[in-house]
Amino acid sequence: MKRGSTKIKLLIGAGIILFALFRYYSNSEVNEFTGKKQHISITTDDEISIGLQSAPQMAQQHGGLYPDQKYQKLVDQVGQKLVSNSIARQTSYKYDFHLLRDPQTINAFALPGGQIFITYALFSRLENEDQLAGVLGHEIGHVVGRHSAERLAKQGLTQGILNGVGFDPSTAQGAAAIANVINMKYGREDELESDDLGVRFMVDSGYEPIAMIGVMKILKDASGPNRTPERMSTHPDPENRIEKIKEAIEKYKK
Ligand SMILES: [Zn+2]
Repeated sequence: MKRGSTKIKLLIGAGIILFALFRYYSNSEVNEFTGKKQHISITTDDEISIGLQSAPQMAQQHGGLYPDQKYQKLVDQVGQKLVSNSIARQTSYKYDFHLLRDPQTINAFALPGGQIFITYALFSRLENEDQLAGVLGHEIGHVVGRHSAERLAKQGLTQGILNGVGFDPSTAQGAAAIANVINMKYGREDELESDDLGVRFMVDSGYEPIAMIGVMKILKDASGPNRTPERMSTHPDPENRIEKIKEAIEKYKK
């Protein structure tokens, strides 16, 4: 008898896994801005809501916002120029660009729905406005590419969001979704797609797309000589990204 019930349990377990897989694969749609087929189970409104709810926590992790409004204004100006001249404008996202105080971490981030961040550590290393456009264009690429929503679906973290009328941060699942997007690492495919979209947005907005290569060099110098080989890490090596960026420049240049 004991054996039989174990079998039934296994069967039920397999059934649950199959159902979860079915749900994941049946939520398939084509991203109208990138043409990519994606498995996403939340609406764009949910994405915006998750991003807005997570933004203060993201800022807090990097010492809050940078106090000088002059630099913040430049970040806003370049970000909005990229949005208003590209397909990003046709999405229903609300783009917000934040300069973070963090003088140590050389990085930029995007939350779902359009909340975009750059640390002062990275900002201060940039040599010109075109490079800033490269960084922000890449991050806008993550938003338009819906990479966070795709990762959430992959991790099965969207069930709780799906069950209600929309995203609810007060539920355990809502809190888990926020914690997850704050520390999210994108896969190499996501990074390469964002580089490609970033180049496209730069060209559309009249920025010099070669500046994106300068950004890669800054990131490479920042990672130092002891960086992990590419296959060990989910982030593509800047050298590999440079090749793809060159291809994108050829593809989009006018
Ligand atoms: Zn990225």
